[in-house]
Amino acid sequence: MGNVLVLNATYEPISVVSTRRAVILLLKEKAELIEAAEAELRAENFTIRMPLVIRLVYFVRIPYKVSLPVTRRTVLARDRYTCQYCGRQPARKDLTVDHVLPRSRGGRTSWENVVAACQRCNGHKGNRTPEEAGMWVLSDPARPRYVALALVEGVDARQVWDKYLR
Ligand SMILES: [Zn+2]
Repeated sequence: MGNVLVLNATYEPISVVSTRRAVILLLKEKAELIEAAEAELRAENFTIRMPLVIRLVYFVRIPYKVSLPVTRRTVLARDRYTCQYCGRQPARKDLTVDHVLPRSRGGRTSWENVVAACQRCNGHKGNRTPEEAGMWVLSDPARPRYVALALVEGVDARQVWDKYLR
């Protein structure tokens, strides 16, 4: 059982739900299936393709500003578990959260100032600014556009979701 991306009636991504919850929404005809995996889910009296992306039939109004906390989990997910200095993807436990402008230099823990970094890059950079260390981030860190982006776990589902998350 994985996670399913939920689109609003306007096709805007709004959340991520469990496969079970998505199937219930589909069976109640509150949502329609947009993308599915090859695999099928079998229950007593029905078979349904494993949903990956569903779209709500009715528009749901959501608050404009959904605040997403800056945590190790959300930052690593945003950066796709990739070191933002060298581009490598070490084991998740070997990834750290680096302050681009070090805290000791006044850098804040904000979406714009933290990136995923491997232990080697983080250690090499130390308390230096990118300029001082000659180390540049691959892409400017920013607040994720959608909350869903930071909740995505499965890589396969994520590739299918990508076109909806742009
Ligand atoms: Zn690195």
